[in-house]
Amino acid sequence: MKSYKITLIKGDGIGPEIIDEAVKVLDAVASCCEIDFSYDEALMGGSAYDITGDPLPQETIIKSLNSDAVLFGAIGGQKWDTLPREKRPESGLLRFRKELGVYANLRPAVVYDELINASSLKPEIIKGVDIMVVRELIGGIYFGEPKGRTEDKGWNTMVYTRMEIERIAHRAFKAAQQRDKRVCSIDKANVLDVSQLWRDVVTEIAAQYPDVALTHMYVDNAAMQLVLNPRQFDVMLTGNIFGDILSDEASMLCGSIGLLPSASIGDKIGVYEPIHGSAPDIAGQGIANPIATISSASMMLRYALGEIEAADKIDAAIKKALREGYRTQDLALFDAKEVCSTSEMGSLIANYIVR
Ligand code: NAD
Repeated sequence: MKSYKITLIKGDGIGPEIIDEAVKVLDAVASCCEIDFSYDEALMGGSAYDITGDPLPQETIIKSLNSDAVLFGAIGGQKWDTLPREKRPESGLLRFRKELGVYANLRPAVVYDELINASSLKPEIIKGVDIMVVRELIGGIYFGEPKGRTEDKGWNTMVYTRMEIERIAHRAFKAAQQRDKRVCSIDKANVLDVSQLWRDVVTEIAAQYPDVALTHMYVDNAAMQLVLNPRQFDVMLTGNIFGDILSDEASMLCGSIGLLPSASIGDKIGVYEPIHGSAPDIAGQGIANPIATISSASMMLRYALGEIEAADKIDAAIKKALREGYRTQDLALFDAKEVCSTSEMGSLIANYIVR
């Protein structure tokens, strides 16, 4: 029996609800694949601030670095929005990513056939969409200096170094080699110097991957093309802020932001997390969609632990629950069938895990 140590960071808002469902599913897959998970909880975000005065206690970094992988829920909420910037939950998360060096955020956006009617877009536009957004995660405007504000002025700086662009570009080309061998690099090179460097370096790196076709697209056009003709994309390579925005847009092709998982990886430990936030508007109501987090647990098994069979079982169980017509409220808008709660969806998926 193989044993893995998983750090669980539930965070704020719907974080605890969705992580509990992912653990339910992990436990189900553990018992049928002879895996032993030990979980260690760690604090982050507003809930960490309330207890320790710090949105990222040092203990959370240490626990995470000493585990095999981190499964993360979400952080943030209005309650903490007026704190000084460095005390806010989002600052804790950015610092966490930096400390762990998770520079690559892989965000698959796949339209399930079972949910073809759940999207606000026409079925003929979205059928077969299978995009991997490879987003740079610890550079760009979220981290650049100088930044600051006075009463009448606020400023941030978008900075990328050659090294930062090279390493994320390698990730994107390698991902494309496992897929349809196409990378579309997203930038704003017509206006931004930092984007011109991005474009030049990505083009240089492409020479090392002759089997992968590279195209470039301005971010404003990419936002339009994603809803006009999303099937044209295979791997979308983006900087931090562009990827943040475009992957939320891509989530709506799939039906709901509550479906999309992600893997944040670097050279050390990986963090597996839904792409959505803490959804304070629905927290505590038992209506959040846990599938993005359950799918993130599947990515953790696949990428961090090499437990491919277990990951496949989770993916199949998710599809089965959807095929049987079960929907959390976010998906029921256009496609109302069996509306179920967060925990009912988690239990269904856990029960569909088969030996
Ligand atoms: P959000 O992703 O939390 O929510 C956007 C909308 O999507 C809301 O209507 C929400 O109800 C819905 N939604 C999100 N996840 C859902 C799910 N699993 N099931 C059903 N519906 C879901 O984004 P926001 O409202 O802009 O931000 C809320 C808080 O989350 C803010 O404090 C923000 O800073 C934080 N945030 C955190 C992360 C993170 O922890 N990685 C990411 C983004 C935003």
